[in-house]
Amino acid sequence: MPIFEFVCLDCGDSFDKLLRSSSAINSVICPTCESPQIRKKISLFSSKVSGGTRAETNAASCAPGGL
Ligand SMILES: [Zn+2]
Repeated sequence: MPIFEFVCLDCGDSFDKLLRSSSAINSVICPTCESPQIRKKISLFSSKVSGGTRAETNAASCAPGGL
């Protein structure tokens, strides 16, 4: 199950939450001020992979010419 990180647009607080599906984002509210005005940040999984040229290398190996 992916963990999503959110930031509240009302109070600026950030928090993370386990979501079963992407549609569950609509029911997420800020745990601090209970505002539904939240924005999803980059998932924890994505942030671990990013930060290098490794992603570019994978993209190149998936090029149509490699098939
Ligand atoms: Zn809030």
